[in-house]
Amino acid sequence: MFKGVDYYDLESELSPEARMIRDSVRKFVEHEFLPLVRDHYRSGAFPMHIVPMLGELGLLGANLTGYGLPGIDNVSYGLVMQELERGDSGLRSVASVQGALVMYPIHAFGSEAQKERWLRSLASGKAIGCFGLTEPDHGSDPGSMQTKAKKDGSQYVLNGTKMWITNGSVADLAVVWAKLDGVIRGFLVERGTPGFSAPEITSKLSLRASVTSELILEDVRVPADSLLPGTSGLKGPLMCLTQARYGIVWGALGAAMACFEEALSYTKERKMFGRTVASFQLTQAKLADMLTAITAAQLIALQLGRLKDAGKMRPQQVSLAKRHNVRMALDVARTARGMLGANGISDEYQVMRHMCNLESVDTYEGTYEIHTLVLGKDLTGIDAMS
Ligand SMILES: Cc1cc2nc3c(=O)[nH]c(=O)nc-3n(C[C@H](O)[C@H](O)[C@H](O)COP(=O)(O)OP(=O)(O)OC[C@H]3O[C@@H](n4cnc5c(N)ncnc54)[C@H](O)[C@@H]3O)c2cc1C
Repeated sequence: MFKGVDYYDLESELSPEARMIRDSVRKFVEHEFLPLVRDHYRSGAFPMHIVPMLGELGLLGANLTGYGLPGIDNVSYGLVMQELERGDSGLRSVASVQGALVMYPIHAFGSEAQKERWLRSLASGKAIGCFGLTEPDHGSDPGSMQTKAKKDGSQYVLNGTKMWITNGSVADLAVVWAKLDGVIRGFLVERGTPGFSAPEITSKLSLRASVTSELILEDVRVPADSLLPGTSGLKGPLMCLTQARYGIVWGALGAAMACFEEALSYTKERKMFGRTVASFQLTQAKLADMLTAITAAQLIALQLGRLKDAGKMRPQQVSLAKRHNVRMALDVARTARGMLGANGISDEYQVMRHMCNLESVDTYEGTYEIHTLVLGKDLTGIDAMS
């Protein structure tokens, strides 16, 4: 069983409940997910039967409260994300999207009827959701989106295209962001609504064990109560992204730990020039750098979780952590990939899969550059993006 990486005894900082949650997710990933991931990655599919299993374990929207939701603390929630991404970024993405990008906006901005209708079924994994913000021509600048909503009697009519939407083709419900009278609002669009389709994107060389789709909205008519009443402006989707980015901060640790562990055990076994690869100083330097990077990222994640639990976390702090931890994981994965030599490019091992996944994780939920500019603005008061 995977032991994790814990050079600074962070274990002693965790509550018994947090440890128990982490260990149960770790076991689940080990027994139920890892045996499947290679074949699904090859075929470019997600094992959908896993979603209700995540629901049964209480891992979907786990840090939300009320409506029968578990309401676990944010450090425990982070550990859930860490363990899921140790399996695969695609697995963590499913849980992140469902919890932080679909359940959270319904929970935070929805009407009582919307919450009653959706939260329990999404938590159980019986219903699947997706979050449609990005468009073909608007990724880093979602405020310029072209998707529009128009009021027509007791209905709204939606038109536009969303791109790169996780779970789009398999979703029962899409949270679609569109401009109504020039203001960004959230709408709930159900699968099967005439004019709404979600073709899958099949060209990915990254996050292959995850469904990614386009959302096409052509004169899609939804009832007036499909509008999320609490949304107005870009702040709505950005608040969702803060929740999801928080999960990524921890998820990236899981991917990095998996790569580190694989590189360490591989180089301790592999012999070259008559001795183990781990015995060479250059290898040991790489291992020391990886361990240091993971340990620093763990401390960032833990303190961020504590700030979130205390209600003091700022979105800019999440930007720092997402930017740092994902780039750290990508660097660790790339280094680990090299340390496995030719085997490092084979899917008999994990490193290349994690490395390729992390390219997406580095891009989605705000690219490295965008989070750099968020920090730049926070430091200088000057917005380099406007
Ligand atoms: C696998 C996958 C799943 C995804 N899932 C979802 C989802 O579920 N829902 C959703 O809405 N979106 C999703 N996305 C989309 C993702 O959020 C966007 O790809 C991301 O925001 C970047 O947008 P873009 O791809 O259009 O890149 P662009 O915005 O075109 O950026 C291209 C490059 O330009 C850089 N750049 C842009 N602006 C600046 C600037 N001002 N200064 C310096 N550099 C800049 C970027 O950092 C990047 O390197 C997903 C993406 C992927 C890959």
